[in-house]
Amino acid sequence: MLYVYCDNCKKNIPSPRSGKNFVTIFDKDLCIPCSEKLEQDIRVLMAKEKDYHLEAFAKNQKSVLDRIKK
Ligand SMILES: [Zn+2]
Repeated sequence: MLYVYCDNCKKNIPSPRSGKNFVTIFDKDLCIPCSEKLEQDIRVLMAKEKDYHLEAFAKNQKSVLDRIKK
């Protein structure tokens, strides 16, 4: 039995299936609501960037992910 816990809300994900009911971003496992929240946070940060750069996305994604404590 595989146990996956969301690194953000610490909830157990029942019958975990990667990409289905949880996603792994770098070293973080996230449930779908948390990953959507995270994407939203990244989008807000990206809106402040002048242009869409992959480096800017990576930087903002990292800063949002760094807020999640494992
Ligand atoms: Zn979660």
